[in-house]
Amino acid sequence: MHRLPCIKLRRFPNIFQNFRVVPIDIVFPRVWKRYVDDVFAIVEERHLEQTLELLNTRHPTIKFTVEQEVDKKLPFLDLIISRKPDNSLKFGIYRKPTSTDRYITSDSNHCGAQKQAAFHSMAHRLVSVPMEKDEYMIEKEKIKKAAKLNGYDEDFVEKIIRTHERKQHKREVTTLQPEKENLERISMPFYAKVTNRIKNALKRHGYHVTHKSENRLRDLLCNAKNKIPSNEKSGIYKIECQDCAAVYIGQTRRKFKVRLKVHKKAVANKRANESSVASHAISLQHNVDWDNAKILKNIRKSSQLNAWESMHIMTSEQPLMNEDDAPILSPLFHLTKLKL
Ligand SMILES: [Zn+2]
Repeated sequence: MHRLPCIKLRRFPNIFQNFRVVPIDIVFPRVWKRYVDDVFAIVEERHLEQTLELLNTRHPTIKFTVEQEVDKKLPFLDLIISRKPDNSLKFGIYRKPTSTDRYITSDSNHCGAQKQAAFHSMAHRLVSVPMEKDEYMIEKEKIKKAAKLNGYDEDFVEKIIRTHERKQHKREVTTLQPEKENLERISMPFYAKVTNRIKNALKRHGYHVTHKSENRLRDLLCNAKNKIPSNEKSGIYKIECQDCAAVYIGQTRRKFKVRLKVHKKAVANKRANESSVASHAISLQHNVDWDNAKILKNIRKSSQLNAWESMHIMTSEQPLMNEDDAPILSPLFHLTKLKL
C-alpha cells in the first residue's frame, strides 16, 4: 500500500489586503464614437441615467442630452443606424424629413464640375458607408431619383456612381495612391459655350482650368470689405538692398508705410544707430531698394509679432542686414523649413 506523501499547506499572505476596494459606479459604454459634438454610444438601458449624469458633471458648460433609439433605429449624422434581431448594427443613409432633393439643376448656367458635385458626394457616401446589399440598392435608386428630379439623365448619375465604385474597389485592394498629374491650375470665369473649348485646349498644354463665380450681381453691387492696401497693414516686412543680396526683416505694429518712413529718414539723415537698414546703407555705401519693400506677413495680433519675425529671420535664405538677433531664438523655427 502506498502512503500518500505528506504535504504542507502554506497560507500565502493576502496580497490584496492593502488595497481598498473601490466601488465601481462608473459604467463604461460598450461603444463610444464621437464626431465634433455628436456622440454615438451604446449604453445599457438601466445605466442610461447614471451615464448621462456622470457626463454632465464633467464640466459646467458642457451639457449632454440624450436621444434614444425608436423602433430599433437611431439617426446619427447622415446615417440611420438600426439594430438587427441579433443585436448587430445595420447602416443606411439618413435624410432629414425636410430634405427636398433640390440641387443645381441641369439647365442652370454652372460648369459641369459644380453640377456634378452634389452627386459625387452622394456617390462617395454610397460606396463608403458599409451598407447591406438591399440598403445599397435603395440608396442608389434615391440618388438616381434625385438626379432625375433635377433634370439629369440616368447616364449622368450612373457614370458618377461607377467612378466611385471603381475608386472604392481600388482602395480595398491596394493602399498605393495613383500618381497625380501635376497640372498647373488657372482660374477663369465660366461662360457655357466658350469655356469648355478653352479648357480642353489648355489641358493639352498642362493647365487645369477651375471656375470661380464671377460677375455676380452681389459682387457688382456691394463691396462689404474694402481691401486695405498692403502698405497700410502691420506685421512682418522685408527691405532689400539694391547693391547686394542683404535684406532687412522687421516687425511693425503700426502701418508699414509709417515704419518705412522711419527707415528712410534714418538713411537720409545718415543716422546709422537708428536703423539696421541705415547702418548697412551708410557703412557700405549701398542703396536701399525702397520700391520693393513689402509686408511678408500681415499680423493683427501684436502678441504674434515676435514669433513670426523670429521665424522669418531664422529661416531667411538671404543674408541679413539685421544687427540684432531675432527676439525668440528657438531652433524649432528651422523645422518650418523642413519639407516632409
Ligand atoms: Zn547691400
